Amino acid sequence: MNCRHCGAHLSQTMIDLGSAPPSNAYLTTQTLHMPERWLPLKVLVCTQCWLAQTEDTTTAEMLFDAEYAYYSSFSRTWLDHAKRYVQDMRSRFALDSTSYVIEVAANDGYLLQYVQTLGIPCLGIEPTSGTAAAARAKGLPIIEQFFGRTLAELLVVEGHQADLTIANNVLAHVPDINDFITGFKVLLKPSGVATFEFPHLLELVEKNQFDTIYHEHFSYLSLTATLNIFNRNGLEIFDVKQLSTHGGSLRIYAQRKDSGPYKIAPRVSELLRREKEAGLLSEKHFTDFQPRANKVKNDLLLFLINAKESGKRVVAYGAAAKGNTLLNYCGIRPDLLPYVVDMNPVKQGKFMPGSRIPILAPEQIQKDRPDYILILPWNIRQEVIGLLDYAKGWGCKFVTAIPRIEIL
Ligand SMILES: [Zn+2]
Repeated sequence: MNCRHCGAHLSQTMIDLGSAPPSNAYLTTQTLHMPERWLPLKVLVCTQCWLAQTEDTTTAEMLFDAEYAYYSSFSRTWLDHAKRYVQDMRSRFALDSTSYVIEVAANDGYLLQYVQTLGIPCLGIEPTSGTAAAARAKGLPIIEQFFGRTLAELLVVEGHQADLTIANNVLAHVPDINDFITGFKVLLKPSGVATFEFPHLLELVEKNQFDTIYHEHFSYLSLTATLNIFNRNGLEIFDVKQLSTHGGSLRIYAQRKDSGPYKIAPRVSELLRREKEAGLLSEKHFTDFQPRANKVKNDLLLFLINAKESGKRVVAYGAAAKGNTLLNYCGIRPDLLPYVVDMNPVKQGKFMPGSRIPILAPEQIQKDRPDYILILPWNIRQEVIGLLDYAKGWGCKFVTAIPRIEIL
C-alpha cells in the first residue's frame, strides 16, 4: 500500500489490532443470524510525510451508510464544547449576520444549532441520512453529500463561500485527504478561516488510546503530517490549540495560502518542535505501542475472568466505536460481559459488532445492580459517573481500561 497523501510505499507498522467488523455495523435481531465482514485493523506510518494511516481495506460509502448510528448530540460534554467553540469563533473572527459559516460533517446539528441561535447564516454538509434528518429537524439547511473538491466548486458557483468552515472529527474519516483539503481552499472567501479538530496522534500513542483506532478512521494525525498535507493543497496553518476533547485533540486554524491575512502564531512552531522531541518523526517511537496495548488486553481479561469466578457481575456503559475496538481486540463475548447500556435509543435492542454483546437501555443497571460498570468511552468518564451516581448506592464500582485498567 502507498501513502494516502504523498504516495510513498508504506512499510512501518504502528500497531496491529488483528481484525474486526466496521465499528458502527451494529447487528439487529435479524442480522444476528448472518455472517459479518471482518476486516484487518492495522495502522501503518509513512516515513516520508509521517501520516499514520489504516491499511486500505474498504470504502467510505460502505462505512457511512444510512444505518450509521453516531449522533453527536447524545454527549453533554461534546455539546458544551461545541457551544463554547461557537462563542469563541464569533468573538475572535467578528462573525455576525453578514457572515457565512459552513460545517462539513454537521452530524445532527449539534454545533450549527448554536450558530443559528446567534443569527449567523450557516449551512451543513452531512452524508449520513439519519443524522442529516435530525439536523433538518432543528431547522438547519443540510446538503446530504460527501465533501470534496467537486462539491466545493459546485457550492462556490451557487454563491456559497465561507467566512468560517468547520470540520470536527472528520479529517481522520476521509479516504482521499488531498481532495478533501483542497475543497476547503476552494470554499473559503479570500480572508476566510477553516478550523479542524481531530484527536492528536501524540496523545493517542503516549496515552495508549489504541481503542480510538477503527476502520472509520483512515488517518491518525500529528501537526507535522497535517502541515505537510495542508501546504501541498493550498492551505496554511496559522494557529493551533490543544484541547482535552476525545482524550487530547488539536484544533488547527488554516487560511488560504494565496490570500489569508493572518500571521502565523508561535504556537505552531512550538508544537512542531514538541512532536519532534517526542520522537513522533522516528520509527522507534511506535515500537512500544503494541506491547502496551497487549498489556491492556491481558489485564482486562484477567479482571473479567476473576470477577466472574468470584461471582461478581460486570456490565459496560457506552456502545460506541471505541468500545467495539477494545472488546473485539480482547476477544470479549457475552459470557464475560453480558450487556452494554447506551442512552441512544437507536442502538438499544441492537448488538455490538463482532462481540455480539446486546445493547440495552441504562435503566437495566438499576434492575440488575451489577458490581462493576466498565466505562468504555473513558473520555467522558466523569459525565458517565455523574449519570450513574445512583449505582454507588449498592456499592457498585466504576472501571476504565485505557490507558491501563483502573477501578475508580
Ligand atoms: Zn506520506
